[in-house]
Amino acid sequence: MRYLVISDIHSNWEALKAVLEAAEGRYGRILCCGDLVGYGPSPNAVVDWARANVAAVVRGNHDKASCGISDAQDFNSVARAAALWTRQELSVENMNYLRSLPAGPLPIGGFQIVHGSVHDEDEYVFLPLDAQEDFDRLGYPLTFFGHTHQQGGFVRVAPHRINVVQAPRGAGITSADLELREREQYLLNPGSVGQPRDGDSRAAFAIYDQGQRGVVEYWRAPYDIAATQCAMASAALPEILIQRLALGR
Ligand code: ZN
Repeated sequence: MRYLVISDIHSNWEALKAVLEAAEGRYGRILCCGDLVGYGPSPNAVVDWARANVAAVVRGNHDKASCGISDAQDFNSVARAAALWTRQELSVENMNYLRSLPAGPLPIGGFQIVHGSVHDEDEYVFLPLDAQEDFDRLGYPLTFFGHTHQQGGFVRVAPHRINVVQAPRGAGITSADLELREREQYLLNPGSVGQPRDGDSRAAFAIYDQGQRGVVEYWRAPYDIAATQCAMASAALPEILIQRLALGR
């Protein structure tokens, strides 16, 4: 099976469209590591699409805040403003769908997906030290996570040796392969579709080819950032959220 693995779409329909075009014909099922909504201007378009097309999703912290499972009190002011705006925008069906999303970790079939970390759905795995804690409790050789909006992740090659997976750079549509090896453990982040923060403003995603040894392809695809920014301005979403899309920060 080949999976399209995405995360942190954040109501960015333009970015999602670019990802689906770049990935077309390359996968059988779609998995999402959470944060369908929050920050961006198109929550209903993204959730409508997810309900019809995504095989498995775990909830993210912005999904929880936007459907009232959490109160967004731990969010910064712009993130909270966007979450409250999203709450007013969402259709009843989409609100109910977000409320029904499971917390990770969610087993898929030989691997699992989470939003933050394996032991806490809201925790950030930024550093090898954070990853070490998770590697001790994984239970699966491969876990996909999101939340940090940074494409890449971590490989445990020996009990106390963790290598960082660097996201590939470039322009246009690019991809780079990571071949999975037996006896190694992987905590991999497909990157953020709708609000990348790793210095590359292109939409990020991964394709996991489970066949034989397994290969994870890291992809980037440019999208119409200006169109998303325009829609955000029309919705009067915070200016700082509009600007950061172009910076990839
Ligand atoms: Zn997020």
